[in-house]
Amino acid sequence: MSKADRLIYLPLGGAGEIGMNAYVYGYGKPGKERLILVDIGVTFPDMDGTPGVNLIVPDIAWLEQNKHRLEAIFITHAHEDHVGGIGYLYKRLGGVPVYARAFTAHHARRKMLETGNAEEDIITASAYPEFIQAGPFNISFFPVAHSIPESSGMVIDTPAGRVVHTGDFKLDETPVLGEPFDENMWREIAKDGVKALVCDSTNVFSLKAGGSEIAVAPEITKLVSEAKGMVVATTFASNVARLKSLADAGLAAGRSICLLGRAMQRMVAAGEATGVIGKFPPTIPVEDARDLPRENLMLIVTGSQGERRAASAQLANGKYLGMQMKEGDLFLFSSKTIPGNEKGVIRIMNAYSEMGVDVVDDTAGIYHVSGHANQPDILRAHEIFNPQIVIPMHGEHRHLRKHAILAKENGRASQLAVNGMIIELTGIQPKVVEYIETGRTYLDGSVQIGAFDGIIRDRIRMALNGHVLATIIIDENDEPLGDPWIEVMGLAETGTSNAPLVDIVEADLGQMLMRSNDKTLRDDAKLERDIKKEVRRSVQAEIGKKPEVTVIVTRLV
Ligand SMILES: [Zn+2]
Ligand SMILES: [Zn+2]
Repeated sequence: MSKADRLIYLPLGGAGEIGMNAYVYGYGKPGKERLILVDIGVTFPDMDGTPGVNLIVPDIAWLEQNKHRLEAIFITHAHEDHVGGIGYLYKRLGGVPVYARAFTAHHARRKMLETGNAEEDIITASAYPEFIQAGPFNISFFPVAHSIPESSGMVIDTPAGRVVHTGDFKLDETPVLGEPFDENMWREIAKDGVKALVCDSTNVFSLKAGGSEIAVAPEITKLVSEAKGMVVATTFASNVARLKSLADAGLAAGRSICLLGRAMQRMVAAGEATGVIGKFPPTIPVEDARDLPRENLMLIVTGSQGERRAASAQLANGKYLGMQMKEGDLFLFSSKTIPGNEKGVIRIMNAYSEMGVDVVDDTAGIYHVSGHANQPDILRAHEIFNPQIVIPMHGEHRHLRKHAILAKENGRASQLAVNGMIIELTGIQPKVVEYIETGRTYLDGSVQIGAFDGIIRDRIRMALNGHVLATIIIDENDEPLGDPWIEVMGLAETGTSNAPLVDIVEADLGQMLMRSNDKTLRDDAKLERDIKKEVRRSVQAEIGKKPEVTVIVTRLV
């Protein structure tokens, strides 16, 4: 008897973390399902866990092994955690078509070109009610409100029923720019029954319904109109609606608007090229801004998360492109600081504070609204789509767990699914049918390395412990030739005995070699081990650290 076809869901990224979203859906005989991938994002490295790493992408080894089963890739929106990995990973996935709506496709094409891929592989898709056939799936992009233009959820029709994958969304009927939440469309999508709702969990702990983007503009306008000196504001470059609210506020206060930072100019250009912005308020180049009185000027700059090279940080360091903050100026963070970025943001705030600049952030909760649905909004989405099964996604473990509990409390089947779990959605209850190996891939310089390859672990150890290079020459008779010598990096030059560390360690090593027997001196591996051990012991005794040690044994033969 042949096994029945089944519908599966497999997150490779984004489930158990906020970042590097990548969700696989499959339909067919077990192990032979035809597959689609929704989103292929990145996560950003940090100095603590991933020093020196450029970017982090999902480990797609499983998908690569099964690429002959992959029909297509769909990208919900142009945030980096959804589209950022396409250029780096596309070649490994066998050249399948990639679908996205115009604004997202614009960004995806640039990413393809930057990584040596063909931009033609990105196909511009129309929105619901248009559908795209991909193997056993019939898929449609339905517009949702979020914090970047043209965000979409996915309607995924399968022989086992309709799946709705929300993407990142909020319920905003007046988003200033871009498509509003359209309840009628959602109800139409839901009317013949929804098998499973795979749903954004980011703000599940926010208990009040989310505010609308339109409520932010009057507050910003008030703040800017009362400002005396120059006004500088920052937000996410991709939040084009907010850029517009900020620019409108500046214009209303009689100020000229100047955009600083490449990301910001690129976003506005993309919005204009794809027609999602309509008319963006007029801006002036920085060369003209320099000549204007400060009270007639408003800068909108990159760097809402305290990024070191962004315009906000450069201005905090002093002059940037001829512009300089002064006492009496105003700096507005029209943004939320993402957990983990606080240090960088606070550093900038203090730098401005020292200049006498007034810094306003979102602590009052009026100069920013989130792009994600809060708990009541998530529950409203459950109510509208009325799915049989709720699968929480786009959240850390605690978010997913809370979201699954809420769904169950409302009488819906739910399953907490984290990266690497294959969940079968065919039956009435979702069930975990398999675990696959997954994780993170680091983009490091120009290569991809595995998170468990040990490379970054070694890098961290070198950074924390310092490094010693020990060199020794062994002659034809297996005797040390001359004294061993060492070089150190990242370690104090002197320690307890007040003599140079290098001299102490070299002397200790020399003594150790004199004590070594012939057998050791003939055996490279053993010799290396002993030298390493002695160097670490000696450095530890002298300065209290155990460094990483590299040993070079040269034999004269
Ligand atoms: Zn997003
Ligand atoms: Zn996201």
